[in-house]
Amino acid sequence: MKTIAVLTSGGDAPGMNAAVRAVVRTACVNGIRVLGVLRGYNGLINGDFIEMNLRSVSDIIHRGGTKLYSARSAEFATEEGMQKAIHTCKENGIDGVVVIGGDGSFRGARDLSERGIPCVGIPGTIDNDIACCDYTIGYDTCLNTIMDCVDRIRDTTESHDRCTVVEVMGRRSGYLALNAGIAVGATSILIPEIKFDIEKDVIERMKRTQLTDKKHFLIVVAEGVGVNVVDLAKSIQEKTGVESRACILGHIQRGGSPTVKDRVMATRMGNYAVKELLMKNIGNKVVASRHGDIVDYDIFEALNMQKHIDEDLFRVAMEVSI
Ligand code: ATP
Repeated sequence: MKTIAVLTSGGDAPGMNAAVRAVVRTACVNGIRVLGVLRGYNGLINGDFIEMNLRSVSDIIHRGGTKLYSARSAEFATEEGMQKAIHTCKENGIDGVVVIGGDGSFRGARDLSERGIPCVGIPGTIDNDIACCDYTIGYDTCLNTIMDCVDRIRDTTESHDRCTVVEVMGRRSGYLALNAGIAVGATSILIPEIKFDIEKDVIERMKRTQLTDKKHFLIVVAEGVGVNVVDLAKSIQEKTGVESRACILGHIQRGGSPTVKDRVMATRMGNYAVKELLMKNIGNKVVASRHGDIVDYDIFEALNMQKHIDEDLFRVAMEVSI
């Protein structure tokens, strides 16, 4: 490999910069030229590149967002767009591409690999919803951001004997809601992976804890369950008599300086992608973390894997938060 490209794609996640830095530095110290691709696959189609060197990734390890910008590219998902991207790669002598993003981005990397451009995916998404990985870059920072925000909400919820229904991100998965819900001591947690009944799992739980003199409540709802939290708060107020508010945390969850865990994992994964894979002419892979180790999977295999929420963790949460 003489020249590689690196891009960030899909929703941004804190720690993407640390991964870009590790990819660029590992390549540079090993004599490989690196092109930074701007705005995900759009940049690959349009040849929107910046020449990277050791210093172009200085002072980014602690920054959220992505210095390379990110995008969702409808054009790249078409055969014509993909062919344009392949042409641009060939024109610029790109021998391999590191794609930092979620599973949608990996599908793009798989299609590009199939058409002869070796790609390596690094899991970067706050949702932790990539089946082959225990952990994705950005997840830890996002969890801590949610915890910090909900701790503040708890202060005012407690002062006024209220209930606050908090909606958190996660797309179709409940990892963020479950783990943040435990960390903030939520009375109920609603996630897409576990069936729920509002009457039994929210209203009755609240009424039961009211009998033990509990007066303020936090309910954490994953966006993926599709419940309107404003309506839920109204219904809780009507049925329990507790003044209730809804709070949608929104994009605050995506930003901020990455935690130690995200910086270290991003650095290890970025280094692995170049040193253990592309430098050995190995493409069509996803870098993953498994029980604390950095490993890799075939990109096709990775995209066909299934991941299941820890139901026992949910049980623990419900048993303890009563
Ligand atoms: P996150 O879930 O964190 O937002 P993601 O990588 O899953 O990240 P997506 O919007 O699903 O985000 O995908 C990012 C980009 O990957 C898309 O805009 C598109 O360009 C490309 N992509 C997604 N699916 C495919 C596909 N099936 N074939 C080719 N390209 C795809």
